[in-house]
Amino acid sequence: MTNAKPPLTVKLAAPRGFCAGVVRAIDIVELALKKYGSPVYVRHEIVHNRFVVEGLEAKGAVFIDELSEAPDDRPVIFSAHGVPKSVPAEAQRRNLHFVDATCPLVSKVHREAERAHADGKQVILIGHTGHPEVIGTLGQLPAGAVTLIGQPEDVAGIPAAATEDGSGLAFVTQTTLSVDDTSAIITALKQRFPNITEPKAGDICYATTNRQEAVKVIAPGCNGFLVVGAPNSSNSNRLVDVAQQAGVAKAFLVQRGADVAALDLSGVTTLGLTAGASAPEVLVEEILDALRQRFDVAVAVEVVREENVIFNVPRELRDVA
Ligand code: SF4
Repeated sequence: MTNAKPPLTVKLAAPRGFCAGVVRAIDIVELALKKYGSPVYVRHEIVHNRFVVEGLEAKGAVFIDELSEAPDDRPVIFSAHGVPKSVPAEAQRRNLHFVDATCPLVSKVHREAERAHADGKQVILIGHTGHPEVIGTLGQLPAGAVTLIGQPEDVAGIPAAATEDGSGLAFVTQTTLSVDDTSAIITALKQRFPNITEPKAGDICYATTNRQEAVKVIAPGCNGFLVVGAPNSSNSNRLVDVAQQAGVAKAFLVQRGADVAALDLSGVTTLGLTAGASAPEVLVEEILDALRQRFDVAVAVEVVREENVIFNVPRELRDVA
């Protein structure tokens, strides 16, 4: 009598996990700690992952919700999600030393919104209410200059009496949305406002796009899917949505290896595995180890796209060894 574990093929998505913006943000905190010593204050979770945040806390980073919690004499870092203009303005007013870890691809969206506003356009932002990136983008322009929408049905409610054809409107989007859901919203926008101005290359970032594409390619051969990521990580949640939309009912967000035992993986023989842009590879390994406790695991890496994007850290930190 043997207690053989059931076989499980794990299709490991590539690309997965850390994007260039997250690597840069974490590097900024680590380099600032080296250069300026601890504590270094960080406004908001530098990236949406507790494991990463706790690792940086252990090295001397102090995470705060608001700038008012930072003392005047220590450096403050702004998170990868970006901040409203009022935050650096307040830091300048207090003469704080601040380092901005906003992802360059989020900054690009900020500049698009500013340009459209300078051209006299009302700006529509497609995104999730309350997400830090959305708060940051809304805060690039004066109150009322940006209208936030989150689904195709919201398009009907946009007040645009003076710009019926959309020539007085421009839209931008959050960088970590579902490519497919956003495209449905954009279609609805263009139907109502044919002359609306759109971002030249789209705002959903390369990392979000590539990770969703990899899930879409792999999901049809899977009857289960795990996404390593945090519940407050937008791009990780979208990866679960994409797997479910591709027909995998048993698609779950999972944070740590300890969570695997409780997952309903009954009947799953081929499991897709990916990680959100803020989830480190060490957690993917941890999940794989936990899966090996339950299954006889065979891993097959599925490379859907190559990535080689790197963002430089700010100049003041480039000389830190
Ligand atoms: Fe930048 Fe995209 Fe990563 Fe966000 S998910 S930090 S926008 S690269």
